[in-house]
Amino acid sequence: MEHIIKKSDFENHLQIKEYLHYLTLDLWQHRWETSNKGRTTFSFFPTVPELPRISFSKLSTQTLSGHGPFMAHLHRIGKSEDDLCQHCHERDDPQHRILACPLFTDERSNLIARTPEPICLHRLPELPLEFLEGFARDYNEAT
Ligand SMILES: [Zn+2]
Repeated sequence: MEHIIKKSDFENHLQIKEYLHYLTLDLWQHRWETSNKGRTTFSFFPTVPELPRISFSKLSTQTLSGHGPFMAHLHRIGKSEDDLCQHCHERDDPQHRILACPLFTDERSNLIARTPEPICLHRLPELPLEFLEGFARDYNEAT
């Protein structure tokens, strides 16, 4: 930061509060863009939301975070020897299931009926959560 901020820079407490709110969002956004963690979630939420969504279901959270029955996640936590989709032999993560995997054609068709093609990951959280839940189906149930 270039200059020291003083109380006299503001007309009232509300201005200070608003300034701190946007300063916090800017810092958070910078950290979010430059982190190497949470990149699956970043692909769905590239911008730190001003107001967080109130609730997520368990399965939609798994899809949006990648922390679910995805081979990439199971491999990361030591529960699978590789991170590959057993059908496509590509990395199995939410992006693979949503954009490419033939095992999730029905779920993808439901998305395409609600959102313009090509599917844009960061638009998906705007949809009702149930459209994301099917992508977190247990891998063995998907066959
Ligand atoms: Zn696949």
